Amino acid sequence: MNSSDFLIIGGGIVGTTISIELRRRYPKSTIAILEKENQLGSHSSTNNSGVIHSGIYYDPDSVKARVCKIGAEKMIDFHEEHNLPLKKLGKILVCTNHDQVSQIDLLLDRAKKNKIEAYEINYEKLKEMEPEVNSIGGRGIYVPITSVGSPKAVMDTINKILLDKNIKIFTNTEIKDKCGPSQVLSKDGSKFNYGFLINTSGSYSDVISNKFDVGQEYTMLPFRGLYWELSNKSGINLNHLIYPVPDLRFPFLGIHTTSSIDGKVYLGPTASFGFGREHYRGTSGINLLDTLNNLKYSGMQFIRNHDGFRNLALQEIFRLSKVGFAKEARKILPNLKYNMLSPSSKAGIRAQIFDKSKGRLVNDFLAVKRDNSLHILNSISPAWTCSFEMSKFICSEYMEA
Ligand SMILES: Cc1cc2nc3c(=O)[nH]c(=O)nc-3n(C[C@H](O)[C@H](O)[C@H](O)COP(=O)(O)OP(=O)(O)OC[C@H]3O[C@@H](n4cnc5c(N)ncnc54)[C@H](O)[C@@H]3O)c2cc1C
Repeated sequence: MNSSDFLIIGGGIVGTTISIELRRRYPKSTIAILEKENQLGSHSSTNNSGVIHSGIYYDPDSVKARVCKIGAEKMIDFHEEHNLPLKKLGKILVCTNHDQVSQIDLLLDRAKKNKIEAYEINYEKLKEMEPEVNSIGGRGIYVPITSVGSPKAVMDTINKILLDKNIKIFTNTEIKDKCGPSQVLSKDGSKFNYGFLINTSGSYSDVISNKFDVGQEYTMLPFRGLYWELSNKSGINLNHLIYPVPDLRFPFLGIHTTSSIDGKVYLGPTASFGFGREHYRGTSGINLLDTLNNLKYSGMQFIRNHDGFRNLALQEIFRLSKVGFAKEARKILPNLKYNMLSPSSKAGIRAQIFDKSKGRLVNDFLAVKRDNSLHILNSISPAWTCSFEMSKFICSEYMEA
Protein backbone atom coordinates (compact mmCIF):
# COMPACT_ATOMS: atom_id res chain seq x y z
CA MET A 1 0.00 0.00 0.00
CA ASN A 2 1.31 3.49 -0.96
CA SER A 3 0.88 6.34 1.44
CA SER A 4 1.77 10.03 1.28
CA ASP A 5 1.01 13.30 3.03
CA PHE A 6 0.17 14.99 -0.29
CA LEU A 7 -1.16 13.02 -3.24
CA ILE A 8 -1.52 14.74 -6.61
CA ILE A 9 -3.63 13.29 -9.41
CA GLY A 10 -2.32 14.54 -12.76
CA GLY A 11 1.28 15.31 -13.65
CA GLY A 12 0.87 18.33 -15.90
CA ILE A 13 2.41 21.73 -15.23
CA VAL A 14 -0.19 22.54 -12.54
CA GLY A 15 0.21 19.34 -10.52
CA THR A 16 4.00 19.36 -10.75
CA THR A 17 4.48 23.02 -9.80
CA ILE A 18 2.09 22.55 -6.87
CA SER A 19 4.22 19.63 -5.69
CA ILE A 20 7.37 21.82 -5.86
CA GLU A 21 5.61 24.54 -3.85
CA LEU A 22 4.46 21.96 -1.29
CA ARG A 23 8.03 20.67 -0.96
CA ARG A 24 9.21 24.26 -0.30
CA ARG A 25 6.57 24.74 2.40
CA TYR A 26 6.72 21.28 3.95
CA PRO A 27 10.29 20.00 3.51
CA LYS A 28 9.73 16.84 5.53
CA SER A 29 6.43 15.75 3.97
CA THR A 30 5.92 12.83 1.62
CA ILE A 31 4.57 13.89 -1.79
CA ALA A 32 3.49 11.70 -4.71
CA ILE A 33 2.22 12.44 -8.22
CA LEU A 34 0.00 9.93 -10.04
CA GLU A 35 0.01 10.29 -13.82
CA LYS A 36 -1.99 8.11 -16.19
CA GLU A 37 0.39 8.50 -19.17
CA ASN A 38 3.90 7.10 -19.41
CA GLN A 39 5.44 10.54 -18.93
CA LEU A 40 4.60 13.81 -17.22
CA GLY A 41 2.96 16.63 -19.17
CA SER A 42 1.70 14.50 -22.04
CA HIS A 43 -1.42 16.62 -22.60
CA SER A 44 -2.06 20.40 -22.45
CA SER A 45 1.21 21.20 -20.72
CA THR A 46 3.27 20.30 -23.77
CA ASN A 47 0.60 20.70 -26.45
CA ASN A 48 0.15 24.44 -26.25
CA SER A 49 1.47 27.60 -27.91
CA GLY A 50 4.19 28.18 -25.32
CA VAL A 51 3.33 31.86 -25.05
CA ILE A 52 4.24 33.51 -21.78
CA HIS A 53 1.29 35.85 -21.45
CA SER A 54 1.48 39.28 -19.82
CA GLY A 55 -1.93 39.29 -18.08
CA ILE A 56 -3.29 42.34 -19.94
CA TYR A 57 -6.64 40.72 -20.79
CA TYR A 58 -7.92 39.76 -17.39
CA ASP A 59 -10.48 41.42 -15.18
CA PRO A 60 -8.44 43.03 -12.37
CA ASP A 61 -10.61 41.19 -9.80
CA SER A 62 -9.89 37.77 -11.28
CA VAL A 63 -7.49 35.11 -10.05
CA LYS A 64 -5.91 35.18 -13.52
CA ALA A 65 -5.01 38.85 -13.09
CA ARG A 66 -3.71 38.17 -9.61
CA VAL A 67 -1.25 35.48 -10.70
CA CYS A 68 -0.40 36.19 -14.35
CA LYS A 69 2.03 39.12 -14.12
CA ILE A 70 4.25 37.51 -11.48
CA GLY A 71 3.67 34.08 -13.04
CA ALA A 72 5.02 35.35 -16.37
CA GLU A 73 8.08 36.83 -14.67
CA LYS A 74 8.69 33.54 -12.86
CA MET A 75 8.29 31.50 -16.07
CA ILE A 76 10.80 33.75 -17.86
CA ASP A 77 13.20 33.45 -14.88
CA PHE A 78 12.80 29.66 -14.95
CA HIS A 79 13.79 29.55 -18.64
CA GLU A 80 16.79 31.80 -18.00
CA GLU A 81 17.93 29.99 -14.87
CA HIS A 82 17.88 26.62 -16.66
CA ASN A 83 19.07 27.90 -20.05
CA LEU A 84 15.90 26.86 -21.86
CA PRO A 85 15.08 28.30 -25.30
CA LEU A 86 13.17 31.57 -24.91
CA LYS A 87 12.23 34.30 -27.37
CA LYS A 88 11.47 37.69 -25.89
CA LEU A 89 9.46 38.99 -28.84
CA GLY A 90 6.74 41.15 -27.31
CA LYS A 91 3.15 41.16 -28.53
CA ILE A 92 1.17 43.53 -30.72
CA LEU A 93 -2.61 43.59 -30.42
CA VAL A 94 -4.52 44.84 -33.45
CA CYS A 95 -8.17 45.38 -34.38
CA THR A 96 -9.81 43.10 -36.94
CA ASN A 97 -13.18 44.88 -36.88
CA HIS A 98 -14.56 48.28 -35.92
CA ASP A 99 -16.13 47.04 -32.66
CA GLN A 100 -12.67 46.20 -31.34
CA VAL A 101 -11.36 49.77 -31.67
CA SER A 102 -13.04 50.87 -28.41
CA GLN A 103 -11.81 47.68 -26.69
CA ILE A 104 -8.29 49.08 -26.99
CA ASP A 105 -9.16 51.59 -24.23
CA LEU A 106 -10.52 48.82 -22.00
CA LEU A 107 -7.36 46.75 -22.48
CA LEU A 108 -5.10 49.74 -21.78
CA ASP A 109 -7.10 50.35 -18.61
CA ARG A 110 -6.74 46.69 -17.57
CA ALA A 111 -2.99 46.86 -18.29
CA LYS A 112 -2.77 49.86 -15.96
CA LYS A 113 -4.82 48.20 -13.22
CA ASN A 114 -2.91 44.90 -13.55
CA LYS A 115 0.40 46.85 -13.59
CA ILE A 116 1.50 45.53 -16.98
CA GLU A 117 3.75 47.57 -19.24
CA ALA A 118 1.75 48.31 -22.41
CA TYR A 119 1.80 51.13 -24.96
CA GLU A 120 -0.76 52.33 -27.42
CA ILE A 121 0.64 52.50 -30.95
CA ASN A 122 -0.74 54.35 -33.99
CA TYR A 123 -0.79 53.29 -37.63
CA GLU A 124 2.67 54.76 -38.42
CA LYS A 125 4.28 53.05 -35.42
CA LEU A 126 2.55 49.75 -36.27
CA LYS A 127 3.89 49.85 -39.84
CA GLU A 128 7.37 50.70 -38.54
CA MET A 129 7.29 47.74 -36.11
CA GLU A 130 5.39 45.30 -38.34
CA PRO A 131 5.14 46.29 -42.02
CA GLU A 132 3.03 43.20 -42.84
CA VAL A 133 0.35 43.74 -40.20
CA ASN A 134 -2.95 45.59 -40.45
CA SER A 135 -5.19 47.09 -37.78
CA ILE A 136 -8.67 48.41 -38.55
CA GLY A 137 -8.89 52.00 -37.29
CA GLY A 138 -5.08 52.14 -37.07
CA ARG A 139 -4.89 51.58 -33.31
CA GLY A 140 -2.87 48.86 -31.61
CA ILE A 141 -1.19 47.95 -28.31
CA TYR A 142 2.41 46.87 -27.81
CA VAL A 143 3.11 44.61 -24.79
CA PRO A 144 6.87 44.10 -24.41
CA ILE A 145 6.96 41.28 -21.83
CA THR A 146 5.05 38.64 -23.86
CA SER A 147 7.53 35.90 -24.79
CA VAL A 148 7.64 32.43 -26.28
CA GLY A 149 9.04 29.60 -24.19
CA SER A 150 9.56 25.85 -24.42
CA PRO A 151 6.80 23.81 -22.77
CA LYS A 152 8.55 20.49 -23.45
CA ALA A 153 11.90 21.70 -22.07
CA VAL A 154 10.13 23.14 -19.02
CA MET A 155 8.42 19.80 -18.35
CA ASP A 156 11.67 17.84 -18.74
CA THR A 157 13.45 20.21 -16.35
CA ILE A 158 10.64 19.98 -13.82
CA ASN A 159 10.82 16.19 -14.02
CA LYS A 160 14.47 16.32 -12.92
CA ILE A 161 13.67 18.81 -10.13
CA LEU A 162 10.94 16.51 -8.78
CA LEU A 163 13.32 13.57 -8.61
CA ASP A 164 15.89 15.78 -6.95
CA LYS A 165 13.36 16.89 -4.36
CA ASN A 166 12.35 13.35 -3.57
CA ILE A 167 8.83 13.73 -4.96
CA LYS A 168 7.58 10.31 -6.01
CA ILE A 169 6.25 9.98 -9.56
CA PHE A 170 3.95 7.10 -10.50
CA THR A 171 3.45 7.09 -14.28
CA ASN A 172 1.01 4.72 -16.06
CA THR A 173 -1.19 5.16 -13.00
CA GLU A 174 -4.74 6.18 -13.83
CA ILE A 175 -7.01 6.94 -10.89
CA LYS A 176 -10.46 5.50 -11.35
CA ASP A 177 -12.20 5.99 -8.04
CA LYS A 178 -12.20 7.05 -4.42
CA CYS A 179 -12.36 3.95 -2.28
CA GLY A 180 -12.24 5.21 1.31
CA PRO A 181 -12.17 8.46 3.31
CA SER A 182 -8.52 9.07 2.32
CA GLN A 183 -7.83 6.49 -0.34
CA VAL A 184 -8.01 6.29 -4.13
CA LEU A 185 -7.92 3.33 -6.48
CA SER A 186 -6.03 3.09 -9.75
CA LYS A 187 -7.08 1.23 -12.91
CA ASP A 188 -4.67 -1.63 -12.15
CA GLY A 189 -6.13 -2.07 -8.66
CA SER A 190 -3.40 -0.28 -6.64
CA LYS A 191 -4.56 1.75 -3.66
CA PHE A 192 -3.05 5.08 -2.57
CA ASN A 193 -3.59 6.61 0.87
CA TYR A 194 -3.23 10.33 1.44
CA GLY A 195 -3.30 13.04 4.03
CA PHE A 196 -4.42 15.65 1.50
CA LEU A 197 -5.33 15.07 -2.17
CA ILE A 198 -5.04 17.56 -5.03
CA ASN A 199 -6.87 16.90 -8.27
CA THR A 200 -4.99 18.51 -11.17
CA SER A 201 -6.14 16.09 -13.85
CA GLY A 202 -6.78 18.74 -16.53
CA SER A 203 -9.48 17.63 -18.94
CA TYR A 204 -10.63 14.91 -16.50
CA SER A 205 -10.80 17.19 -13.46
CA ASP A 206 -14.63 17.16 -13.44
CA VAL A 207 -14.73 13.35 -13.58
CA ILE A 208 -12.32 13.05 -10.65
CA SER A 209 -13.98 15.81 -8.60
CA ASN A 210 -17.37 14.12 -8.97
CA LYS A 211 -15.94 11.03 -7.23
CA PHE A 212 -15.48 13.33 -4.22
CA ASP A 213 -19.01 14.79 -4.55
CA VAL A 214 -17.45 18.06 -5.68
CA GLY A 215 -18.34 20.25 -8.65
CA GLN A 216 -21.51 18.52 -9.88
CA GLU A 217 -22.62 21.88 -11.30
CA TYR A 218 -19.65 21.83 -13.68
CA THR A 219 -18.88 19.79 -16.76
CA MET A 220 -15.92 19.70 -19.13
CA LEU A 221 -16.40 20.87 -22.71
CA PRO A 222 -13.29 19.98 -24.70
CA PHE A 223 -12.41 22.44 -27.46
CA ARG A 224 -9.70 21.55 -29.96
CA GLY A 225 -6.96 24.07 -30.64
CA LEU A 226 -5.72 23.47 -34.21
CA TYR A 227 -2.89 25.34 -35.94
CA TRP A 228 -1.71 26.07 -39.48
CA GLU A 229 1.93 26.62 -40.32
CA LEU A 230 3.09 29.65 -42.27
CA SER A 231 5.40 28.69 -45.14
CA ASN A 232 8.97 29.92 -44.69
CA LYS A 233 8.77 31.01 -48.33
CA SER A 234 5.78 33.28 -47.68
CA GLY A 235 7.97 36.39 -47.50
CA ILE A 236 5.97 37.44 -44.43
CA ASN A 237 8.49 38.25 -41.74
CA LEU A 238 7.22 39.04 -38.28
CA ASN A 239 9.14 40.60 -35.42
CA HIS A 240 6.50 40.16 -32.71
CA LEU A 241 3.57 37.94 -31.78
CA ILE A 242 0.48 39.35 -33.47
CA TYR A 243 -2.93 38.94 -31.81
CA PRO A 244 -6.37 40.37 -32.56
CA VAL A 245 -8.14 42.23 -29.77
CA PRO A 246 -10.14 39.35 -28.24
CA ASP A 247 -13.81 39.17 -27.36
CA LEU A 248 -13.31 39.37 -23.59
CA ARG A 249 -16.59 37.56 -22.89
CA PHE A 250 -14.86 34.31 -23.90
CA PRO A 251 -11.66 32.61 -22.73
CA PHE A 252 -10.32 32.35 -26.32
CA LEU A 253 -7.92 34.79 -27.94
CA GLY A 254 -8.75 34.59 -31.64
CA ILE A 255 -6.51 33.53 -34.54
CA HIS A 256 -3.00 34.84 -33.86
CA THR A 257 0.60 34.23 -34.87
CA THR A 258 3.07 32.32 -32.71
CA SER A 259 6.72 32.40 -33.69
CA SER A 260 7.80 29.28 -31.86
CA ILE A 261 11.27 28.47 -30.57
CA ASP A 262 11.69 25.89 -33.36
CA GLY A 263 11.81 28.77 -35.85
CA LYS A 264 8.37 28.03 -37.30
CA VAL A 265 5.49 30.50 -37.41
CA TYR A 266 2.09 29.06 -36.55
CA LEU A 267 -1.34 30.58 -36.97
CA GLY A 268 -4.11 29.53 -34.63
CA PRO A 269 -5.14 27.92 -32.42
CA THR A 270 -8.81 27.50 -33.19
CA ALA A 271 -11.40 26.68 -30.51
CA SER A 272 -13.11 23.92 -32.51
CA PHE A 273 -15.76 21.56 -31.19
CA GLY A 274 -14.04 18.58 -29.51
CA PHE A 275 -15.42 15.06 -29.90
CA GLY A 276 -13.52 13.84 -26.83
CA ARG A 277 -11.17 14.89 -24.04
CA GLU A 278 -8.28 13.49 -26.05
CA HIS A 279 -9.59 14.08 -29.57
CA TYR A 280 -6.59 15.89 -31.01
CA ARG A 281 -6.84 15.03 -34.72
CA GLY A 282 -8.63 12.65 -37.08
CA THR A 283 -10.78 10.01 -35.44
CA SER A 284 -8.39 9.05 -32.65
CA GLY A 285 -9.67 10.04 -29.22
CA ILE A 286 -13.33 10.39 -30.24
CA ASN A 287 -15.57 9.51 -27.33
CA LEU A 288 -19.34 9.19 -27.70
CA LEU A 289 -20.24 10.32 -24.18
CA ASP A 290 -17.97 13.39 -24.37
CA THR A 291 -19.42 14.23 -27.79
CA LEU A 292 -23.03 14.01 -26.56
CA ASN A 293 -22.19 16.07 -23.48
CA ASN A 294 -20.45 18.72 -25.57
CA LEU A 295 -23.32 18.76 -28.09
CA LYS A 296 -25.87 19.13 -25.31
CA TYR A 297 -24.23 22.08 -23.55
CA SER A 298 -22.73 23.80 -26.61
CA GLY A 299 -26.14 23.40 -28.30
CA MET A 300 -27.86 24.90 -25.26
CA GLN A 301 -25.53 27.91 -25.38
CA PHE A 302 -26.08 28.24 -29.11
CA ILE A 303 -29.84 28.41 -28.63
CA ARG A 304 -29.70 30.76 -25.63
CA ASN A 305 -26.94 32.80 -27.28
CA HIS A 306 -25.42 33.81 -23.94
CA ASP A 307 -22.69 36.42 -24.43
CA GLY A 308 -23.11 36.11 -28.21
CA PHE A 309 -22.01 32.44 -28.17
CA ARG A 310 -23.82 31.77 -31.47
CA ASN A 311 -21.56 34.14 -33.35
CA LEU A 312 -18.45 32.56 -31.78
CA ALA A 313 -19.65 29.06 -32.73
CA LEU A 314 -20.40 30.08 -36.32
CA GLN A 315 -16.99 31.75 -36.63
CA GLU A 316 -15.29 28.59 -35.40
CA ILE A 317 -17.22 26.40 -37.87
CA PHE A 318 -16.13 28.76 -40.67
CA ARG A 319 -12.48 28.55 -39.52
CA LEU A 320 -12.50 24.76 -39.82
CA SER A 321 -11.96 25.03 -43.57
CA LYS A 322 -8.65 26.29 -44.90
CA VAL A 323 -10.46 28.95 -46.94
CA GLY A 324 -12.30 30.21 -43.85
CA PHE A 325 -9.19 30.10 -41.70
CA ALA A 326 -7.08 31.98 -44.28
CA LYS A 327 -9.80 34.61 -44.61
CA GLU A 328 -9.77 35.14 -40.83
CA ALA A 329 -5.95 35.22 -40.64
CA ARG A 330 -5.84 37.76 -43.48
CA LYS A 331 -7.53 40.25 -41.14
CA ILE A 332 -4.19 40.59 -39.33
CA LEU A 333 -1.88 39.66 -42.24
CA PRO A 334 -3.47 41.17 -45.39
CA ASN A 335 -0.78 39.75 -47.73
CA LEU A 336 -1.34 36.17 -46.59
CA LYS A 337 -2.26 33.84 -49.45
CA TYR A 338 -4.13 30.57 -49.15
CA ASN A 339 -1.13 28.56 -50.42
CA MET A 340 1.18 30.00 -47.74
CA LEU A 341 -0.58 27.86 -45.10
CA SER A 342 0.05 24.18 -44.55
CA PRO A 343 -1.67 21.92 -42.02
CA SER A 344 0.25 21.38 -38.81
CA SER A 345 0.29 18.33 -36.57
CA LYS A 346 0.37 20.73 -33.61
CA ALA A 347 -2.92 20.47 -31.70
CA GLY A 348 -4.10 20.84 -28.13
CA ILE A 349 -7.26 20.30 -26.10
CA ARG A 350 -8.60 23.25 -24.17
CA ALA A 351 -10.04 21.76 -20.98
CA GLN A 352 -12.85 24.27 -20.67
CA ILE A 353 -15.26 24.08 -17.75
CA PHE A 354 -18.93 24.91 -18.31
CA ASP A 355 -21.12 26.00 -15.40
CA LYS A 356 -24.40 24.13 -15.89
CA SER A 357 -26.23 26.19 -13.25
CA LYS A 358 -25.38 29.49 -14.99
CA GLY A 359 -25.34 28.14 -18.55
CA ARG A 360 -21.96 29.78 -19.21
CA LEU A 361 -18.33 28.93 -19.89
CA VAL A 362 -16.17 29.66 -16.83
CA ASN A 363 -13.60 32.35 -17.64
CA ASP A 364 -11.42 32.37 -14.54
CA PHE A 365 -9.38 29.64 -12.87
CA LEU A 366 -11.53 27.62 -10.49
CA ALA A 367 -10.64 25.61 -7.40
CA VAL A 368 -12.97 23.86 -4.97
CA LYS A 369 -11.89 22.42 -1.60
CA ARG A 370 -13.79 19.72 0.26
CA ASP A 371 -12.47 18.13 3.46
CA ASN A 372 -8.96 16.89 2.73
CA SER A 373 -9.17 17.32 -1.05
CA LEU A 374 -8.74 20.23 -3.45
CA HIS A 375 -9.94 20.23 -7.06
CA ILE A 376 -8.47 22.52 -9.72
CA LEU A 377 -11.28 22.59 -12.24
CA ASN A 378 -10.53 25.15 -14.92
CA SER A 379 -6.79 25.29 -15.55
CA ILE A 380 -7.23 26.88 -18.97
CA SER A 381 -4.87 29.35 -20.62
CA PRO A 382 -2.78 31.07 -19.26
CA ALA A 383 -2.27 28.38 -16.58
CA TRP A 384 1.03 27.33 -18.20
CA THR A 385 2.36 30.90 -17.91
CA CYS A 386 1.01 31.34 -14.37
CA SER A 387 1.84 27.89 -13.02
CA PHE A 388 4.63 28.79 -10.55
CA GLU A 389 2.72 31.73 -9.07
CA MET A 390 -0.66 29.96 -9.30
CA SER A 391 0.76 27.09 -7.24
CA LYS A 392 1.89 29.52 -4.58
CA PHE A 393 -1.55 31.16 -4.61
CA ILE A 394 -3.32 27.78 -4.36
CA CYS A 395 -1.20 26.62 -1.42
CA SER A 396 -1.69 29.92 0.45
CA GLU A 397 -5.42 30.25 -0.22
CA TYR A 398 -6.56 26.66 0.16
CA MET A 399 -3.99 24.69 2.09
CA GLU A 400 -2.71 26.82 4.93
CA ALA A 401 -4.84 26.30 8.01
C1 LIG B 1 -4.12 24.78 -27.90
C2 LIG B 1 -3.70 25.33 -26.58
C3 LIG B 1 -2.82 26.43 -26.54
C4 LIG B 1 -2.44 26.96 -25.31
N1 LIG B 1 -1.53 27.97 -25.27
C5 LIG B 1 -1.11 28.45 -24.09
C6 LIG B 1 -0.12 29.47 -24.05
O1 LIG B 1 0.41 29.88 -25.08
N2 LIG B 1 0.24 29.96 -22.83
C7 LIG B 1 -0.32 29.49 -21.67
O2 LIG B 1 0.03 30.00 -20.61
N3 LIG B 1 -1.25 28.52 -21.68
C8 LIG B 1 -1.64 27.98 -22.87
N4 LIG B 1 -2.56 26.97 -22.90
C9 LIG B 1 -3.11 26.48 -21.64
C10 LIG B 1 -2.16 25.53 -20.93
O3 LIG B 1 -1.60 24.60 -21.82
C11 LIG B 1 -2.93 24.81 -19.81
O4 LIG B 1 -3.57 25.80 -19.07
C12 LIG B 1 -2.04 24.00 -18.90
O5 LIG B 1 -1.18 23.18 -19.63
C13 LIG B 1 -2.90 23.17 -17.95
O6 LIG B 1 -2.07 22.32 -17.24
P1 LIG B 1 -2.66 21.13 -16.38
O7 LIG B 1 -1.53 20.58 -15.60
O8 LIG B 1 -3.85 21.61 -15.63
O9 LIG B 1 -3.24 20.10 -17.44
P2 LIG B 1 -2.54 18.88 -18.24
O10 LIG B 1 -1.23 19.26 -18.80
O11 LIG B 1 -3.56 18.37 -19.20
O12 LIG B 1 -2.27 17.81 -17.10
C14 LIG B 1 -3.26 16.99 -16.55
C15 LIG B 1 -2.64 15.64 -16.39
O13 LIG B 1 -3.53 14.79 -15.67
C16 LIG B 1 -3.39 13.49 -16.18
N5 LIG B 1 -4.59 12.74 -15.80
C17 LIG B 1 -5.85 12.94 -16.25
N6 LIG B 1 -6.69 12.08 -15.66
C18 LIG B 1 -5.95 11.31 -14.82
C19 LIG B 1 -6.27 10.23 -13.94
N7 LIG B 1 -7.52 9.77 -13.80
N8 LIG B 1 -5.25 9.68 -13.22
C20 LIG B 1 -3.98 10.11 -13.35
N9 LIG B 1 -3.63 11.11 -14.19
C21 LIG B 1 -4.61 11.73 -14.91
C22 LIG B 1 -3.24 13.71 -17.67
O14 LIG B 1 -2.66 12.59 -18.33
C23 LIG B 1 -2.36 14.95 -17.71
O15 LIG B 1 -0.98 14.64 -17.81
C24 LIG B 1 -2.95 26.41 -24.11
C25 LIG B 1 -3.82 25.31 -24.16
C26 LIG B 1 -4.17 24.76 -25.37
C27 LIG B 1 -5.06 23.57 -25.41
